[in-house]
Amino acid sequence: MRTFQAADGPRFKTRAGAVFLMWSNDYLGLARHPRVCAGAADADATWGAGAGAARLVCGTSPIHEVLEQALADFKRTDRALAFSSGYATALGAIPAVVGPGDCVVIDRLSHACLVDAARLSGARLRVFRHNDLDDLDRILRWAGEERERGFRRDERRDSASASGPRVGEGAGGARNPDEGARARGRVLVVTESVFSMDGDRAPLREIVQLKERHGAWLMVDEAHATGIAGPGRRGVIEELGLEGRVEIPMGTLGKALGAAGGFVTGSTALVEYLLNRSRTFVFSTAPPAATAAAAAAAVAVVRSEEGAERVARLQSNLSMLHRSLAEDGWTLPAPVSPILPLAVGDENDAVRLAAALNDEGFLVPAIRYPTVPRGKARLRVTVSADHGPDDLVAFRAALGTALTRTGLRPV
Ligand SMILES: *Cc1c(COP(=O)(O)O)cnc(C)c1O
Repeated sequence: MRTFQAADGPRFKTRAGAVFLMWSNDYLGLARHPRVCAGAADADATWGAGAGAARLVCGTSPIHEVLEQALADFKRTDRALAFSSGYATALGAIPAVVGPGDCVVIDRLSHACLVDAARLSGARLRVFRHNDLDDLDRILRWAGEERERGFRRDERRDSASASGPRVGEGAGGARNPDEGARARGRVLVVTESVFSMDGDRAPLREIVQLKERHGAWLMVDEAHATGIAGPGRRGVIEELGLEGRVEIPMGTLGKALGAAGGFVTGSTALVEYLLNRSRTFVFSTAPPAATAAAAAAAVAVVRSEEGAERVARLQSNLSMLHRSLAEDGWTLPAPVSPILPLAVGDENDAVRLAAALNDEGFLVPAIRYPTVPRGKARLRVTVSADHGPDDLVAFRAALGTALTRTGLRPV
């Protein structure tokens, strides 16, 4: 791990000198926003550095409720439930709604936390090819038939997941009223609206139609779209007019919102169910009030005129960098997210290119297996509203120099 000495917006100081960040998920520059930091400082002074216990059993500060109300208002749903991280959100929510006898159908490029959560649930796990609607349709048709047989799993899978906790095991909260009573055979489709390492989007409108046709549920992780996509900056679900048609919309608070945490929004029934059944919520100390307050302040900034201005700045930076990298020969996805993966392929080449860029003063991570498949290594470049046009011009020049020095060429 690299240690930073100080930070000034996207400029960080290291022992070796100043570096300019081209990797952060703080897409709107809210992590250092005065209103967000002041929210954290006030809550810290009032409620202390640590929350002291889990919320369900020991009670909750009003700050966490303010955050959840802000998230529900923002997403135009009845309720929201905040978790201490996006990872904890997935790990809590998925095993709460599916278990043995159910089936999870997940996009191959889904984030590790979604995959881990699906495995942990004990449900039968099927993977569909990335954004491939035909493959998803085929698996959902299979699931429709298999549902009758209770998703019998093969021996190998059974023993692999045998040690994982089960939904029905003393969760410490209220019992699921329909546990035991409901027929198993639930099918949950899981995907992301914007994929974290590829920067492309899922065909959500078509996925919603498919899951509705097959009677499945849908969970969509909006980690990289919350605060950015859609006219109200609520995410891709809003942009496509799909609000109310996704059973489990999830988001994170540590990316465009600049704080930390994760959340699920939805009906009162869903949220009450999750807060009693999600093990990462029930059995984990609440995030600090300061973190919750920072996130609530960030939601307010995103919803304000300033939020619109920051997204406009992000978009114009994104168009500019996308255009210049495409001119230089890079094959990029359409600029539909702040993530621009520079495909390198070979793992060692990616590391060499990242090191050469670092020497030029730009920090870009070389993303390799197991984060992405073998042979698909890349530099994951992200754009922020905090970047100035000059920064992006300098980055383009540095990338050119790094290519020359390494003898590599754009793919
Ligand atoms: C980062 C990320 C998460 C995890 O969120 P954390 O708050 O960092 O734990 C979940 N899903 C996706 C798609 C992510 O990119």
